[in-house]
Amino acid sequence: MGTQERSRITVVGGDITEQRVDAIVNAANSSLLGGGGVDGAVHRKGGKAILEECRALRASRYGGGLPVGRAVATTAGLLPARWVIHTVGPVYSATEDRSALLASCYTESLRVAAELGAESVAFPAISTGVYRWPMRDAARITAEALHTAPVRVPLIRVVLFDDAALAAFRDAFDPS
Ligand code: ADP
Repeated sequence: MGTQERSRITVVGGDITEQRVDAIVNAANSSLLGGGGVDGAVHRKGGKAILEECRALRASRYGGGLPVGRAVATTAGLLPARWVIHTVGPVYSATEDRSALLASCYTESLRVAAELGAESVAFPAISTGVYRWPMRDAARITAEALHTAPVRVPLIRVVLFDDAALAAFRDAFDPS
């Protein structure tokens, strides 16, 4: 990784909205106007400031919605983080390989985090909920994306919501 030090990556169980990090990543949808899963929790617990900023982003830069694989930041409202980085995962397809788009969610979010000056960022397992990506495959793609990302954020935390997801991600990040 050149002269740069590597990011420190940890894999933990927990709720993304409770992470005390500079930036948490939201598994958003392209409308940026809220949804279920992580997105629902972020807006429910973060309060209306986040939604207002998302509406402003829709009106200014993303009239057609935020494209899949891209990321954009807002304030974190009432959450303990400083920023929420919204990214849109691909819906899983059994017939089309969309793994580059899933990897892009991670690398684009890191790029936005680095631009903000964030020193710590927490990710959920993007696309593994409503978007149906198989957990083990998502874990493998996530590990590769984070290990090879061109941008360094000193601390990266991947936060899994249940034991099966945690086991899959632990295996992918720490194969033995
Ligand atoms: P997507 O639409 O990208 O699939 P979801 O929010 O539906 O996103 O789910 C992504 C993953 O996040 C799923 O594995 C889900 O179990 C998990 N998840 C849901 N709520 C939370 C939360 N509060 N913190 C962390 N992970 C969560």
